[in-house]
Amino acid sequence: MNEHNDPKDATLAVWAGEDKPHWENATQVPVVHSVSFGYADLEHWAKVGRGEVDGHIYSRNTNPTVRAFEEKICRLERAQDATAFASGMAAISNTLFTLLTPGDRIVSIKDSYGGTHKIFQEFLPRFNITVTLCDTTDQGAIETAISEGCQVLYLESPTNPTMKVVDIARLAAAAHRVDALVVVDNTFATPVNQKPLVLGADLVLHSATKYLGGHADALGGAVCGPQDLIRRIFHFREINGAALDPMAAYLLLRGMKTLALRIECQNQGAIQIARFLQSHAAVEHVFYPGLDSHPQHDIARRQMQGFGGMLAFSVKGGYGAVMQFLPRLQYAHRAANLGAVETIVGPPATTSHVELNASERAAMGIPENLVRYSVGIEDVNDLIEDLKQALDSI
Ligand SMILES: *Cc1c(COP(=O)(O)O)cnc(C)c1O
Repeated sequence: MNEHNDPKDATLAVWAGEDKPHWENATQVPVVHSVSFGYADLEHWAKVGRGEVDGHIYSRNTNPTVRAFEEKICRLERAQDATAFASGMAAISNTLFTLLTPGDRIVSIKDSYGGTHKIFQEFLPRFNITVTLCDTTDQGAIETAISEGCQVLYLESPTNPTMKVVDIARLAAAAHRVDALVVVDNTFATPVNQKPLVLGADLVLHSATKYLGGHADALGGAVCGPQDLIRRIFHFREINGAALDPMAAYLLLRGMKTLALRIECQNQGAIQIARFLQSHAAVEHVFYPGLDSHPQHDIARRQMQGFGGMLAFSVKGGYGAVMQFLPRLQYAHRAANLGAVETIVGPPATTSHVELNASERAAMGIPENLVRYSVGIEDVNDLIEDLKQALDSI
């Protein structure tokens, strides 16, 4: 691809990572299932091994199909390099265990993804790493915690499932004043709606399982950033063994071609659905950063190009009402997933925060009458009709 022009997201989604000639002139990236790559010339083999010439040796380390996926997400995030993982959690844990050393301190927010929260609460402390989790909406308190010294600031925005928004540029500046690295989980926004590296983050990571793949048929993860940091994380990952499978890489690559289209459609659907829900008598509260009433709407407007396809709402009548309402939806998978072409719903107790118990969820401010709604690419009027008939029945 021509490096001198500045292709937009929709162009990069299609072409990035796929612009080299493929085997037998195939127009699509071949799925290379081979575990190893053979060399008749020992000298050449050694050069590949030392990284002096391009090539692959063993697919736990690098693989051509996986590399195409890495190049696509790297370009979309405007990063220098990227490395891929078997899942989003592999990307998160490998990144944290590469960056942190016993005695270090990490500052983060209370509203991180359930699995990430488990790493903070259960695993990092075992390695004598201090974890400070701040009130997600109190940017001043997060700045104060950062100023007391830390090696890593870990953010997620918008958060799962209550859609809180943190000020990435402001907090990244605070972290850099104490020489901390800033890591942002950009799974919810995707690079189409938010570019954390442009806002000042050092590393951006993804559960590619969600919007990047977009079809709920492949697990994967990625981290993007400057080459020196990515090399360090890659080194940990190749030894740790959390490699992305080539078939999954292919499915993610194919899904990503329509990323810009899907996100645009889901952005437009979500705001209409959020407004409809706000007007319905059975709904207590709607959580969506695109609404004027959202407490961090101004921050979201500054740092996002679109507000995304994720929203949450609480229904009047507690968990009982949720149990009544959810089975009536026709156009929604009731499942622990998000970011796909199909609409997906579920309560946090069985989806994002299944790893936590009811009192831990309560401590995180996640009400039991909450419904997380991942807007698909269906016709938005059909989705609103569907929600209406189900809510009317409560
Ligand atoms: C799903 C998710 C993860 C974990 O990703 P997996 O691919 O399921 O391991 C991490 N962060 C966020 C925000 C997620 O939604």
